[in-house]
Amino acid sequence: MNPTLSQHNGLPAILLDGSQGEGGGQILRTGLALSMVTGRPLRIERIRAGRAKPGLMRQHLACVQAAVEVSGGQAEGAELGSQSLQFTPGAVRAGDYTFRIAGAGSCLLVLQTVLPALMLADAPSRIQLAGGTHNPMAPPFDFLQRAYVPLLARLGVGLALTLERRGFYPAGGGLLQAVITPATQALTPFDLTERGAALAAWAEALAPGLARSVAARELEELGRRLGWTHEADQLRAPGVRQHEGPGNVLLATLEYAQVTEVFCQFGERGVSSELKARRLADEVLAFQHSSAATGPHLADQWMLPLALAVWRTGRAASFTASELTDHTRTNAAVINACLPVRVATDAMDGASLVRIEPLPVP
Ligand code: AMP
Repeated sequence: MNPTLSQHNGLPAILLDGSQGEGGGQILRTGLALSMVTGRPLRIERIRAGRAKPGLMRQHLACVQAAVEVSGGQAEGAELGSQSLQFTPGAVRAGDYTFRIAGAGSCLLVLQTVLPALMLADAPSRIQLAGGTHNPMAPPFDFLQRAYVPLLARLGVGLALTLERRGFYPAGGGLLQAVITPATQALTPFDLTERGAALAAWAEALAPGLARSVAARELEELGRRLGWTHEADQLRAPGVRQHEGPGNVLLATLEYAQVTEVFCQFGERGVSSELKARRLADEVLAFQHSSAATGPHLADQWMLPLALAVWRTGRAASFTASELTDHTRTNAAVINACLPVRVATDAMDGASLVRIEPLPVP
């Protein structure tokens, strides 16, 4: 590895400490994404130092590989367990790509790594992803589809997702298609500080390959906690294809006039259906009691596309979050280190404000 990597094509390198803040894979993914969109090379040390098994796992290697492919770039240190990586992007190319992630590594996290580059490209891209679509510690497909895609559309970016087969942790085997259509006009950064009127709220229990009682017990307990009923079509057990399992996820979707939020709990050994439902109910109630537009996960994920829109247009934008998580604070620090924008966070009454302002380019 080149120890003196400081610039490429006259552009200064991005140097990131992977142990900062939350210390997980998001520092790597945001770093790769911002390296591709700015053309600056990336050097990252102490990758995932905050995790029990530090360094690059298959999931993260798939992100690096995807970044290499879409940008015609080069990576050094892209090996299992590696704690340092040097990535030099080339020119981003829109086109057709297929990414396979071993096991249940998240398709959605790989997609989010290349989305920033491809949403700023000069033509649409079509991506096939194989791997996990519903795994713990990652956004499930339904979250991207219902919560994230509509916000991107308001920025002017098309992201059409088709779920062909679910892939649950730990087996994976899921399949999805994503078509990314860059904005035809300038991106339109916008403020998202209010959620607007409540329109609908419902839950779904998916439990392919498991006893029918699992979904039924989850829904019953969730209904009891939240006052949701079968009669109002708020407790659903949609049909699943048995070959998608075994797996289990309990999802809650809250639709408001300005935003849709999706919360979920995954099946875990030793965690009863009732406990899962209570945990999900707590997440839903915490969000409902706050006045914020975004929940904890949407906040850290929405920040990057919005920061790109602020950078590209020179127009400030903001959003409110029910909670400022370590992921959100860390992503803000990484974006501040890589882009000429300033992401600032302020605690307010019942919500926190995330404000993104353009900085003059030196
Ligand atoms: P990391 O742990 O650094 O690899 O980042 C995990 C990413 O997955 C973060 O962007 C989280 O917000 C996101 N994430 C984890 N769990 C969920 C969930 N239940 N719903 C939506 N996003 C999630």
